Amino acid sequence: MLKNSVKSLILIALLLSGAEYTQAQKSGKVSKKEKHPRNVIIMIGDGMGLAQMYAAYTATDGKLRLAEFEHIALSKTYSANDYTTDSGAGGTAIACGVKTNNGMIGMNPDSVAVKSILRLAEEHGLSTGLVVSCDVTHATPASFVASVPNRKQSEDIAKQYLDTDIDVFIGGGYDAFAKRSDSLNLIDQLVKRNYQVATAIPAMLEVNSGKLAALLYPAHPPRVSEGRGDMLSLSVAKAIDLLKTNKDGFVLMVEGSQIDWGGHGNDTDYVVEEVIDFDKAIGVALDFARHDQQTLVIITADHETGGMANAGGNFKTGEAKGAFTTGNHSAIPVPTYAFGPGAENFKGIIENTDIFRLMSKLLGFSK
Ligand code: MG
Ligand code: ZN
Repeated sequence: MLKNSVKSLILIALLLSGAEYTQAQKSGKVSKKEKHPRNVIIMIGDGMGLAQMYAAYTATDGKLRLAEFEHIALSKTYSANDYTTDSGAGGTAIACGVKTNNGMIGMNPDSVAVKSILRLAEEHGLSTGLVVSCDVTHATPASFVASVPNRKQSEDIAKQYLDTDIDVFIGGGYDAFAKRSDSLNLIDQLVKRNYQVATAIPAMLEVNSGKLAALLYPAHPPRVSEGRGDMLSLSVAKAIDLLKTNKDGFVLMVEGSQIDWGGHGNDTDYVVEEVIDFDKAIGVALDFARHDQQTLVIITADHETGGMANAGGNFKTGEAKGAFTTGNHSAIPVPTYAFGPGAENFKGIIENTDIFRLMSKLLGFSK
């Protein structure tokens, strides 16, 4: 008798939890059982489709850190006004969760400013950072800090960095802050706001606490094979070091910016070098996340560039033969990889805006 009532209690409990699970699934809610990350590192390989990744995988005989990711989704990248996105609309979708028109930054199609995940993190007391291998006013990083109707407004974008409370930003673009048509000196303003400003990698590496603005090149950094060296992975390590001291967590955005430029040039070597460089930076984030166990690492792309295919290759010799169908972006969905607490939510065919939605939900910024 007692046995039976225990059995039915267990059965009821099972049924109830089953019902709850189904309901959570239907409403798209994150299940309570999942762990929530304290930190999020969102890494964007600009133009990094599956062929770009696999060319680098072939060239390194499978030694890509990206191959360690087990949770993978396919992200649809179309923008509000075009089947094929640009990096402005693609970046805005990931950063702010809104599909906008090509060329726009941090705004919806009606030119209303929208908040990025970095802004939300700031409001919730987390530290924030951004590391890119291009000018920090370029479209992808701009989507995380600025709101402008046209991505070409680089001086306005630089000025909007001062409207944020971003703790660390590293990349090129010194001239957009220092040599401006309105003759404002934004470097002085950064110093007044307690930023330590570095214009070279050794000076950046010396900063061990506080706020850091590292503007390491006048405009874009050179490609990795023309002297950029380990700028990206060193910068990611430095950013994590500075941000991790906040007990409430941090959100760091990282971009492998020039994979896209290799794609535009239909230049397989350029693509492969830049994916390998980005992958080194991924390794830095992954090593931190494995040790820390409270960090969700997301790797995605804003779109694919070049309509690239893997036309041939050889793991032993490292030969990777790319073929291209366009000098522009393509509309093919891009792989999105996740590691750490909440990574299991990254699955299936998703919208690029779902990446923002999941980050925001898992960090507890939204339901
Ligand atoms: Mg970009
Ligand atoms: Zn592009």
